Amino acid sequence: MKSQQIIIRNNESSLSNEKNQDGLSAWMVDVAPHTSSDKTDYTCVIFRNMTAEYQADQIRQDFVANASHELRTPMAIIKGYLEALLEDNMIEEPDIAKRFLTIMDKHSNRISRIIDDMLAISKLESKEEASINMEEFKINECIVDVVERLSPLISENKANVNVYIKPKNLSFNGDKFYWAQIMFNLVENALKENPKPGIKVDISAYCIDNDIIIKVTDYGKGIPVEALPYIFKRFYRVDKHHTNSGIKGTGLGLSIVKRAVEGHGGTISVHSIPGVETVFTIKIPN
Ligand code: ADP
Repeated sequence: MKSQQIIIRNNESSLSNEKNQDGLSAWMVDVAPHTSSDKTDYTCVIFRNMTAEYQADQIRQDFVANASHELRTPMAIIKGYLEALLEDNMIEEPDIAKRFLTIMDKHSNRISRIIDDMLAISKLESKEEASINMEEFKINECIVDVVERLSPLISENKANVNVYIKPKNLSFNGDKFYWAQIMFNLVENALKENPKPGIKVDISAYCIDNDIIIKVTDYGKGIPVEALPYIFKRFYRVDKHHTNSGIKGTGLGLSIVKRAVEGHGGTISVHSIPGVETVFTIKIPN
């Protein structure tokens, strides 16, 4: 008998009969003849649980499929307008040409944002130590900077953004670049998901025992309870029935936030009562 290797994928349960998280398991089975010292012939069977490798592979494949889909849509729109400008000679009509170029500019910005977000995720997942540069920084300065960058959206939404930091000079060790991105994504979400004028957003940071707690709270439309388990997943959006022009984000914002927080040894959780309040709470060891 020759040795053989078989891969089994099981949709129901693992071979050890425990259901794993996604109800899917993968096993590699090695079968080989073996003769013991007393000349008895055996068949040696080795079961190797490959579920983690299989799931990682699946996540990679889904990521590529989702990324291609997300990039293809704005790319097709740009191509369509370019064809109209060149082939239908719209370039001769300055008003129409300007309108088309503005639309193309918006969609090329979207492509740039998707690529930037994908690079941020891939950097965080590369587990390179160099990808997080720790230095002591003041959380207040980071939040003031984020609020300033978001001031056009804050004015547009007539939003009321309040910052509470105790003590005022609270500082900790972390990568300033990622903390700016974490705070930007959370505050931007609170604003862009609640475009009705007058949304209130509270940002707070304080210490409890040996932890630093950072909260971003808004009092807007909230997140439906059935969507909560998925919102940190890549490319997940609550509202899937949007027109392309109405897409507000890349669906990658919260997965970047989660990975960056975890990269600092912290955790993030969300609590939402639609129409009442939505609170994102970050806890990091000090
Ligand atoms: P995006 O980059 O598209 O904003 P995210 O990963 O940041 O994607 O968010 C995932 C989903 O969670 C989005 O569909 C968004 O609608 C929802 N969401 C995130 N924050 C809030 C919030 N503060 N209020 C309501 N919905 C939110």
